[in-house]
This record gives sequence, C-alpha cells and structure tokens, in this order.
Amino acid sequence: MTTVLQPAGVLSFEQAYQTILDYSRGIRPPQTEEVPLLGALGRVLAEPVKADRDFPPFPRVTRDGYAVHAADLASLPATLRVIGQAKAGSGFTGTVERGQAVEIMTGAALPAGADAVVMVEYTEQDNDRVTIDRAVKAGENVVPAGAEASAGQELLSPGQRIRPAHIAMAAAVGKRRVRVYRKPRVAILATGDELVDLAEVPGPEQIRNSNSYSLSAHITEHGGEPLQLPVAPDEERKLSTLIHAGLEQSDMLVLSGGVSMGKFDLVEKALSSMGASFFFTGAQIQPGKPVVFGAIPAPSANSSASFAATPATMPLFGLPGNPVSVMVTFDLFVRPVLQALGGASPVRLPAAKARLASDFKTKTGLTRFLPALLKGGLYGPEVEVISWQGSGDLLASARANCYLVVPPDREAIPAGEMVSVLIR
Ligand code: AMP
Ligand code: MG
Repeated sequence: MTTVLQPAGVLSFEQAYQTILDYSRGIRPPQTEEVPLLGALGRVLAEPVKADRDFPPFPRVTRDGYAVHAADLASLPATLRVIGQAKAGSGFTGTVERGQAVEIMTGAALPAGADAVVMVEYTEQDNDRVTIDRAVKAGENVVPAGAEASAGQELLSPGQRIRPAHIAMAAAVGKRRVRVYRKPRVAILATGDELVDLAEVPGPEQIRNSNSYSLSAHITEHGGEPLQLPVAPDEERKLSTLIHAGLEQSDMLVLSGGVSMGKFDLVEKALSSMGASFFFTGAQIQPGKPVVFGAIPAPSANSSASFAATPATMPLFGLPGNPVSVMVTFDLFVRPVLQALGGASPVRLPAAKARLASDFKTKTGLTRFLPALLKGGLYGPEVEVISWQGSGDLLASARANCYLVVPPDREAIPAGEMVSVLIR
C-alpha cells in the first residue's frame, strides 16, 4: 500500500523521517546493468544470487587430525590403524571401517564410513598406528554437506548493497558478472551571492562553495552519481534556469542555501513557481531546521523521470546552507531517498549507546543531532560533543564520527548518562 503524501509545513523529526520513508517506498526500482563481479562492490544488487550447489558441497572437515568412528574412542587411549590420507581437494577414496582412521587436513571431505574428526593435538602417530587420548562426538569438526545452504537457495536478495562478504558469496557460486541497479544521478545546486568556486580567489566577504563538494562526496559514497551545477546567485530567474538544467539531467535535485526566512532566501519561491510541492518545509531539528523536501514535475527531456515515485515528478531537497546542517540533513533525509532511488531499501544510521563525556545543556523543543566524537576502547564507549561555532563550523563536521541525539524534551544531560548516538 502506498501512502499518498500531503504537502505540509514544519514537521517533528519523526514525522519528517516517516515522510521520507513513505516517499521512498513509492520509488520504483531503477534500470539495471550487468557488471564484472569486482565492479559490483558498493553497488546495489538487482538480481537474486542463488547457490549453484549445496554448501558445503561435501562434508567439510574443519580441523587437521584423523577421521574416525566416534564410537572407537569410547575408552581412551585408543589405538587405530591409519589406512590413508585425505587433503583439501583430494580426499580418501576408500571406506573407513571400525578400528581404522584416515589422516586428514582442514578443508578435505570426510571419507565414507568416518563420522568425526579428532584434532591432531590429541594424537600421536607411529608408522600406521595412531594413539588418541581424547573422545569426539559424532559429527565433531565436520560441517555436513548442505548445512550452510542447499542448491537453489537464495543467498543474496535484490536491494542489497554489495560489500566484500557479498562479493565472496557471489564468487563462491561462480558469478563472474552480476546485475546491479543503475546509479541515480543527483544534481547539486549551491545558492548564494557570497559563494565563489574553487578556481576563484574569494573577495573579503566571499566564501568558497564547499557544499557542492561535500554533497558530491556524500552522494558518491552512498551510491549516487553527483552532477555539480554552477553556483546560483540569490536571484530568482537565474536560480530557475539552473534548477531547470539540473532537472533535465538527473533523478533528484539537491540545493543548498536559500531556504531560511531571509529576504534573499528564494529557493522555495523559485521551486514553487516551477510547480514543486513540498512534503515538508522544515523539521524541528537542530541543526538543519529549515530543510525542505518536495517533488517537482520532471521536464519531458528527462528520459529517466520514470525513476521517481510518480512518473512525472522528481524528488528534491532544499538543504540549509550551513555546512554542518548540510551534513546532518543529508545523513537524516537525503540518504534514504538516494538509497531508494538506487534500488536499495533505506537503512537508518546505526544507533548505539555511549556514556556522555561531559555535562550537556540546551533548550527544549528540537531534536538535536550534534556532531560528536565516539571514542573509548572496545568496551565502554564514550561520546564527546564537539564544540562548534554554530552550524557553519566545517572543522566540527570534519572531526565528527557520530551524532549525539538529544530528544526534544531534554534540556540537561549529566556527564556519565548513557545517551543515544547515531553512527555516521
Ligand atoms: P543560507 O542557508 O543561504 O542562509 O546560508 C547559511 C550559511 O551557510 C551562510 O553563512 C552561508 O555563507 C553558508 N553557505 C551557504 N552556502 C554555502 C556553500 N555552498 N558552501 C559553504 N558555505 C555555504
Ligand atoms: Mg544564502
């Protein structure tokens, strides 16, 4: 069942996040392409990967030792006759009878007749006799054929982002090429009269456009293909022209800047006059409160518009211009939509509990996602809020590896309390 999204204003974090998930569920999977196995790393699988035979295909021995009848080790020490050897790749072809043993290596197939392996550490061989001073249970140190998967079983499902362990699995079933979803293209448009591109020398009141670069990097990291548009000035007509250019070449549009309440914050106005509707125009979060999420009619020139939830529209985000807000709103809201556009099921940032390093004070009313540093050893993780000069602190975002989550009803958290963090 698909939820029909209604235009709304400022939502709570939970409502805004739910809106994002509802929208994402309506996105149709994109087109697919076939790539060589290693080229699939980080891509989203578009076909099931099935076991081509039983796994393991034979009863696989997991220790170096002797293949035996467990019942022969009822009274210890036991002496058995060694009738042969089995190694990985070439097993013992005969049958192990009672009173006999086969010297065996890890990875070999358990010979017929034997029902267990006793580790070499508990044995001593002298010519064709082995003396064993440890009992084993039937089945010990052996993985039965088909125990991990049976032939035809689905091992990996479409929608899975492919990590090294999945590459190993595909290799194990002989897949040299895999079908993956096409990467969604995301147009990035930074807005602001104060911005200059990297190639330029900024004037005394100008700053370099870093958001287009952080967004490109975020998008690449999460499986998209970024397309940077030239910086847009705070002027509606030029803004609209660049928005249009972005829509023609992409599956989603992400703008930064120009969504606050200022006189020159023209992004919503320009988008509205191009037919956009907004599912939210703000979220009760900090940083990132002015974040905007909506959909806009896709130009007919865009051949991949069928990508979006409703065939004729494309998703769009207006992120606040502050670099820390960009990072937070990307992680919270853009990421799930990007994942869905790429054929993957959206996954939340992993949450963990950690001990707060020092007292924290704030005001109630907003859910806060504060750049923070999760540290400490293997046990007893500790989280330290990174001090920052408002939402514009690039250094703070560079140091952060997580967000401290402060619920909207908390105004003071004492040091030592176990708090929630979201891992980036
Ligand atoms: P805005 O959301 O347009 O009000 O911008 C908020 C703050 O973020 C201002 O200090 C901007 O100068 C800064 N900012 C806006 N866009 C960018 C950008 N592309 N790169 C770096 N900083 C930016
Ligand atoms: Mg601005």
